[in-house]
Amino acid sequence: MAHTPVCRICRREGLKLFLKGDRCFTDKCSVERRAYAPGQHGQTSKKLSNYGSQLREKQKVKRLYGVRERQFRKTFSEADRKKGVTGETLLLLLEMRLDNIVYRFGFGRSRAEARRFVRQGHVLVNGVCVDIPSYQVSMGDKIEIKEKSRKVPSIVESVEGAERRGLSGWLKLDKENFLGEVTALPSRAQLTLPIEEQLIVELYSK
Ligand code: SF4
Repeated sequence: MAHTPVCRICRREGLKLFLKGDRCFTDKCSVERRAYAPGQHGQTSKKLSNYGSQLREKQKVKRLYGVRERQFRKTFSEADRKKGVTGETLLLLLEMRLDNIVYRFGFGRSRAEARRFVRQGHVLVNGVCVDIPSYQVSMGDKIEIKEKSRKVPSIVESVEGAERRGLSGWLKLDKENFLGEVTALPSRAQLTLPIEEQLIVELYSK
């Protein structure tokens, strides 16, 4: 079966980035089938320079969350200004983006789809429509699909498959009412992402 371009991105990073919705949770996933990078030389392991590894890690995180360079840089600066471990704060800020939270609740099958639903005005935060994907969600916030959007076929399909994709322990979902609550902030251990965020911090500290 031909690999779609987004699957090539995962194979390049050697990591499941969950860019294709339901397909990512099946044995059709290209990373599960072939873990080496695409292309003729994909199977040759290349040793990256220090700078190369730092850059690669940044690309990986940007692609995972679907964030452009400018937005990523802005998020990093914000993480840098806050108290705590910058790399972990960076991941937390990315994780608490509204589009990511909508995806985590299973209201969208991929982050890209979740982002589209937010932009299209299907999502309420504490009862108010928020159409900004980068909006920062806080602990205790209630995220909900607007009542009249609950019949949109792609949203219905997404929610139906939510359990199969799994729900993070820091989120509570009332599937019948298309309502989710952020009950806690995730710890780094709960973000089971194979990311070495320290490399990104090093990259920006040059
Ligand atoms: Fe493709 Fe999803 Fe697998 Fe990535 S995780 S390779 S997007 S099926």
